[in-house]
Amino acid sequence: MNDARTILRQYQRGKKAVRGLHDYGDAQKYAEGLGKLLADALGSDFDGVDEAELAGVLRVVMKKAYGDATTAAANVQQQMTRKQGLRIGTLQPDFEPERADKVAEELAGKIVDQGLVDNLMKQHTLGGVDDTIRKNAEANTEMGLETHIVREYSDVGLRSGTKWSEDCQWCLERCGEWDNVADAQAAGAFERHPGCLCKIDYQVGKTHTTSNGGGWVNV
Ligand SMILES: [Zn+2]
Repeated sequence: MNDARTILRQYQRGKKAVRGLHDYGDAQKYAEGLGKLLADALGSDFDGVDEAELAGVLRVVMKKAYGDATTAAANVQQQMTRKQGLRIGTLQPDFEPERADKVAEELAGKIVDQGLVDNLMKQHTLGGVDDTIRKNAEANTEMGLETHIVREYSDVGLRSGTKWSEDCQWCLERCGEWDNVADAQAAGAFERHPGCLCKIDYQVGKTHTTSNGGGWVNV
């Protein structure tokens, strides 16, 4: 395995500029690409690498990719609120180093399938987009704005143990539409297994009031 600096250099070389991202679906595609780039830079040979050493490297490189993914997602969120005529701020979630430790625990000392590293890194960067949705949806709810969360099933990345001919029941149970972020969270809408490519989308609307006959108004 390369050191953190070498991994980051390779990752940065392949990275595309954030351009043409207009909705959370775009941000998710972009984040998926970031995860793949990082996975390629990491490789799949962690033989002779102990868990603490690997965790140290992953904390650095996964933080970088998470920051890139959440920046792209926050950018989309900001465009959306502007389009709605809402003058509100955008939140970006913080990287949790414990997530890198968990991955280190799974990979340290082994030579693994590259597909596993791909899936773990995509789960991580897509998680950054999901976290951005959740954080902003919570804040928007507190502001009294209407929120809408949709999780759409994708059969591209199946949970391990699922046959190719079968649907991913785990994901299907977590798909749906919610007008409340707490309900979406409780239903597991933001949970992903490694490799999950379900599409999670978020819309924020204007305050719904009854004072003007139930129409949408600017806040
Ligand atoms: Zn699934």
